[in-house]
Amino acid sequence: MRHQLSILAPDPDSDERLELLTNLLTDSSGGSMIAVLALVREGASMAYEIKVLDLIDIEVEASFLVLAHKIGNVTRAKCWSYLILGGEDAILVDTGVSSPEILGRLGMTGFVEGDQGLESQLAKHGVSTGDVRYVLHTHTHIDHAGQDDRFPGATGIIKRSELEYSASGLMGAQYPPEYVKHHIDRLHSPGALRLLDLELSGPDEILPGIVCEVAGGHTEGSMNILVETGEGTACICGDIVYDVQNSLVEPYHVMLEREPQVTGNHGLAKRQERAAIKKALNSGRFLLTGHDNPARIEAGRVVARLADSVPGPEVLVEPAVPVA
Ligand SMILES: [Zn+2]
Repeated sequence: MRHQLSILAPDPDSDERLELLTNLLTDSSGGSMIAVLALVREGASMAYEIKVLDLIDIEVEASFLVLAHKIGNVTRAKCWSYLILGGEDAILVDTGVSSPEILGRLGMTGFVEGDQGLESQLAKHGVSTGDVRYVLHTHTHIDHAGQDDRFPGATGIIKRSELEYSASGLMGAQYPPEYVKHHIDRLHSPGALRLLDLELSGPDEILPGIVCEVAGGHTEGSMNILVETGEGTACICGDIVYDVQNSLVEPYHVMLEREPQVTGNHGLAKRQERAAIKKALNSGRFLLTGHDNPARIEAGRVVARLADSVPGPEVLVEPAVPVA
């Protein structure tokens, strides 16, 4: 009901249309529909805030992050979850690693320091694991789906093709069997899992103001999560980009204008990976990747970076190549 009526009144400032709708509903159905209208107004003015949760630092070889970049050099990357606030319930995007030690299976090392970690990061926003109603996944790699078992009361939302891909063996230890088995178990628990068929259905508004679409890169089942904020749409794109500076702002070893550089860890063809990045750059005003600070985008170009909140304070970015 809410979804259908939201389509009728998509513009948050459209008081005139809401008034017309009020008259229509009260004339035809009486006072009971006023409650429905209140939901329409709430949905129409949905403005989520996205909080960056700093879970763990991962030590990794640099060319894993950007193809052929600083081969042989070890660097550190952040690993985020995103907490979406402003709706009826707290929503979490990705759950990080199950433990720092599990990264050893990929030859990587994890460091949890200070107030890092899922529970303490949620607590900074007054949220506990029990408050989270939905756990969404950009994808379910080792560093994105490791703590789903700590949300037994939440519904997990992933693409069906990501579940299939995780069990396919095509990316080996990047999908730990513990994670895959946990998701399989959810298949057989009422309401524990919601599977999306975005390749066939097209973009899916899973909750008011939150739309999932095919990402088209990194893994076969990756999805972008588009979230309406008070300052425009934020595209949470997972790992189609790791390093915003060296893949987007100054793409490493790329001569072409506006051609992004891919990561060193991608499951699809180069053409698809580059197209996925271009798609994400056109899917929202903000780009939120799995391991780097958020960016604000204008006409496909990174113009500012943000810290731990979207919307939030920004630092402007000068274009590396003059725009014609
Ligand atoms: Zn990742």
